[in-house]
Parts: sequence; C-alpha cells; structure tokens
Amino acid sequence: MKIVQLATEFAPLAKAGGLGEVVIGLSKELLRQGHTVEVILPKYDCIDMKSLEQVRLSIPDFKCSEKGASHANALWQGFFQKVPLSLVEARHASGYFHRGKIYGCDDDIARFLYFSKAAIEILSLRREVIDVLHLHDWPVAIAAVLARDFYNLPIRSIVLTVHNAAYQGLCASWDLDAIGLNGLKYLVPEKLQDNSPDKPSLINLLKGGVVYADAVVAVSPQYAKEMVTPEAGYGLQKTFLKYRKKIFGFLNGLDQDLWNPEKDSFLVAPYGSKDSYKQVCEAKELMRAFLRDKCTLSSSGRPWVGAVTRLAIQKGPELIEEAFYETLQMGGTFLLLGSPSSPDIEQHFRALQEKEKNNPHLFLCLEYNEALAHQIYASLDFLIIPSLYEPCGLSQMIAMRYGTIPIARATGGHKDTIFPSNGFLFSDFTKKSVRRGLQTAFSLFQRDPSSIEILVKNAMQIDWSWKKPTEQYVEIYNKSLTLELKSP
Ligand code: ADP
Repeated sequence: MKIVQLATEFAPLAKAGGLGEVVIGLSKELLRQGHTVEVILPKYDCIDMKSLEQVRLSIPDFKCSEKGASHANALWQGFFQKVPLSLVEARHASGYFHRGKIYGCDDDIARFLYFSKAAIEILSLRREVIDVLHLHDWPVAIAAVLARDFYNLPIRSIVLTVHNAAYQGLCASWDLDAIGLNGLKYLVPEKLQDNSPDKPSLINLLKGGVVYADAVVAVSPQYAKEMVTPEAGYGLQKTFLKYRKKIFGFLNGLDQDLWNPEKDSFLVAPYGSKDSYKQVCEAKELMRAFLRDKCTLSSSGRPWVGAVTRLAIQKGPELIEEAFYETLQMGGTFLLLGSPSSPDIEQHFRALQEKEKNNPHLFLCLEYNEALAHQIYASLDFLIIPSLYEPCGLSQMIAMRYGTIPIARATGGHKDTIFPSNGFLFSDFTKKSVRRGLQTAFSLFQRDPSSIEILVKNAMQIDWSWKKPTEQYVEIYNKSLTLELKSP
C-alpha cells in the first residue's frame, strides 16, 4: 500500500508533543510491514538537516498561490531512520516556518493552510496514485477538502487521525478564500461551518477533515467513546456522532527506539525490563544522583515524583501545582519539566519558580527539554498526570517503560492503559482527588515495597510497540478503500 502522511510534527526533528512521536513510530512500522510511506512536513528552521540521510533538493521551485499571489517553494527529500521525508520549504515573505517554534504564532491558520495547499500541490505535480492520504489533526485537515474538491487527485482514500479534538482550527471563510477555495461555499452545516450557534460565521477546519475523510481514527478506544460527549467533543460531538460509522478508536504505540532505557544515551546507567528490580532501583538511584547535582536537589531516600508535560489547561496545571506541594508535605521530592502553553500559565509558574528557587526538594524547569525529559522519567518513582482529558497520552507509557509508576486521572487513554496491576488512577479533576492518588501511592511505597516492585515489573513488561497499532491502521486503511465508508 502507498501511504502519504501530512503532518506538522515529526519526532525528534520537530516535536511539540505526542503527535510527532506517532508520525515517526507509525511510519517506521508501516515500512517494516512492507508498505510504501512518505511523510510531508514543513521545513521548519528547527530541523537539523544534517540529521537526515541522502538529502536532495527534489523540486527546486514550485508555486503555491495565496491571496491571489504566487509564492515560490522548494521540496527537499531525505531519510530519517529510513523514513522518507519530504520537507516543504516555503520561500514566503512571511517566513511561515522560520519562527523558532512549531505552534503558537498569531498566523498559525494561514501558515498551516499554506502548508496543506503546498503539500497538495506536490501531489498534484506528481499525479501518482496514492492509496491513502493520512492527515493528522486540524493543521492539515483542509488537505482532504483540497484533494477532493479542488485538485481531484488520484488518491484512493483519506484517513484523518484526531489526536486532540479540542484544537480545531477555527477561522473565517476568507481564510479559505486565501488558498483559492470559495470560503462561503463551505460555510454550511453539512460542510465546514462551526457547530456552535454563537459562531455561525466561523469555519472549523477539523470538522472539515472529519466530514471529508473516508475514515477517522481517535487515538484510544476510550477517547472514541468520549469525543461524542460535550466534555470531550468541544462542540464537535454532533459531528462525531453523525459520522460515528467511520470513526475508529485504538491506542497509539510508542517508538521503542526513541524510548528505550537500555540504549538511552541521555541516561547515566542503562537498565531494562530483563533486569532484576534491584538493578532497576540501582540504575534509578544513579540517575537521581546525577539530577541532584544538576538540579541542586538534596538528600536521598525520599520518593521521587514528577511531571513531564505541556503546561496547558488540558494537563491540569493547578493540579500539578497541588501535586508538588502534597509531595513535599509527605516527604517526597518533586521535579516538574513543563512547557507553558500560554503567557498566563507561564507567568504563574515563573512566580512559583522564583518563590521556590531555594527549595532543596523541588525542581521546576519551564521549558521544552528532550534530554531532561528522558532523565526525569528514568529517575522517578511516580509520574503524576492529572489531565482534564487525555486522548491517548504517551507519557504514562513512557513512564512505565522506564519503571516509573503513573498516578493519573481516569480519563481517555489513561483508562485504556493504566490498571491496578501497573499504576494508580483517580477519578475526579479536583485537588482532593490528586492528593488521595498521591497518598495511596506513598502509603504503598512506605508500607509495602514488594507491591511497588510488582507494579514496576508489570509496567516494564508491557509491549507498547507500534506493531499492533500499525496492523490496526492498515485494517482501517483497507476499510477506508471500500465503498461503504466513502465520504459523502
Ligand atoms: P501531548 O501530546 O498532549 O502533549 P502526550 O503524553 O501524548 O501529550 O505526549 C507528550 C510528549 O511530549 C511526551 O513524549 C513527553 O515526554 C513530551 N513532553 C511534554 N512536555 C515536554 C517538555 N516540557 N520537555 C520535553 N518533553 C516534553
């Protein structure tokens, strides 16, 4: 099968969260299972082209029009860990992909509409038959509309993965005009008009992807159930309900090469699921000694709790704050690696950071830091994930692979991956519930170390590889090629 994926992240070259890991993990396994894969990405300034193999300028100049003007672009191709990558270099006056970040610019809508159009232009220039065009989230959802209504490409089916339905790409109809679509034509309930009665003049790009795709994948079975409710559908629940026959839910895998404590170059001592519990604890202790030095933390022998997360409303920043004070209260050490997603949240946590800068049992790092993330996962006893909602969540899987027990709110993918045999779930999105979750874990840690050993051993044995999820994707690709699922 020939599969082309359009995405705005690809780990580790351009990663903001779990999406980028899904794209590389799935691509590698699709290749291993004998399929032909290509990933098309924006050529961001953060991408280190030296880490690609066999880089070549495959199309030195192709045009993409926006607001009636024609803009120059180039296409670079190369391989990353054998995955064929195509990078769209937009030589656009607005420097769309030279912002030092992936998301969070005022013109994100224009940037990603432009990228989607440029990617479809490439497919149009090639005019090769593609079995599946696989799209990821709102930034590239418009490609389904462009491919079907505007370019009439030889694409046999379109699959959309919804990684997070809360991010929908709301824009005006004239934003679609800018890339040559007639925006008003799409501003109708059965196409891209936002479902909210107070926003009837808005276009909803994610909705467009759901309407136009032949199949839609939600990133966990539980999330597929939750997204048809107002709490997780964020206004799109009616659309998800309407198209439920073409929506499928299954878990993401984990890239076993990116996350492997046996071969992780960021760790001071390798360890793995075949090691004894004693060896795992020794390796973790060495990691803690390293971090105590690096993060000026003191004293050993305390339980270590932490969070590695985007600091966004979804992740419950106020509950994370509660978790670190409760951990300190109970005599533990807490490490937070959090990338703030808004100026308000950043300001709040910077103030906490300043206030606690001399606290020897608390480390707050407010940035995105890949190496530190690996080191923190390896050092912890417990990872706290109090999410408001969690479509799949990779961090609990990573934690378990590194012998760290998740304490998580029972929502979305947490419910599909965390059980009494490998972690702790708490039900309410409240401070009290977080405290209870931590207290249960701490009490077991102190009272009954042998049950913690069992949890750690169980957690480390789980196979989170991409093999099964990829087989499930291939099944959906095959289904999406059949007539019954074809989009209207
Ligand atoms: P989401 O995609 O919603 O952010 P996931 O749990 O699916 O959440 O994936 C998050 C990924 O991003 C994990 O690999 C996690 O380790 C990583 N991550 C999150 N925040 C940071 C950070 N501040 N620094 C480094 N890595 C981070």
